[in-house]
Amino acid sequence: MKIIIAKDYDEMSKIATEIVAEQILQKKDSILGLATGTTPLGLYKKLIELYKSGRISFKDVKTVNLDEYVGLKKDDKQSYDYFMRKNLFEHIDILPENTHLPNTEAKDLEKECKRYTKLLETLTPDIQILGIGSNGHIGFNEPGTSFDSHTHIVNLTQSTIKDNSRLFDSIDKVPTKAITMGMADIMKAKKILLLATGKNKANAIKNMIKGDISQDCPASSLNLHKNVTVIIDKDASSEL
Ligand code: PGA
Repeated sequence: MKIIIAKDYDEMSKIATEIVAEQILQKKDSILGLATGTTPLGLYKKLIELYKSGRISFKDVKTVNLDEYVGLKKDDKQSYDYFMRKNLFEHIDILPENTHLPNTEAKDLEKECKRYTKLLETLTPDIQILGIGSNGHIGFNEPGTSFDSHTHIVNLTQSTIKDNSRLFDSIDKVPTKAITMGMADIMKAKKILLLATGKNKANAIKNMIKGDISQDCPASSLNLHKNVTVIIDKDASSEL
């Protein structure tokens, strides 16, 4: 695991952007595993700038997202589908049919999980972007999730609901369920890039880097992957 400590959020985003841009420049039909949340917003903004400057194109790129809330329509402003369109896809030349998220509007969610797992077998990310939850989750794989898991429906923990409530009008508006890529799906990515900023991630970062490899901290599983780069700011590194 390579660890880069950036001086702040902007520097973290810049370093991450260079890594993703290099990936696309080296393989124009790269498969990108994408994350939502506030952490990758700077990265997406800078990728849009690079696209607009003509340095990179997403014409042949395909994307697979980590997760999606259950109970929100795709056009709900809080859905991850909406997030990806507004914060990245609508600003670049990616083909909408090349972007994939779990479809939580499907009638049969168990069947949808199987479909997504199968999709990931053909669309295995060349690089997977990850954030980390303050409880150590990756995607929505909450503590206790088996390292063998594939795409599945999760009941979000109270800590995740509380963390995410900052983006909703009130805590009771936060969905309690989601569909997430499983741990085994995430670990199949060729490269992994985990980003974290802020003091509220410091404990999770310490557990991931210095703690035991255990289901109690899902991100600790990344120690078993051969090609992981972690980029964090000073605050997120403060307990190391
Ligand atoms: P955040 O979420 O980027 O909004 O902090 C990260 C996560 O929960 O994985």
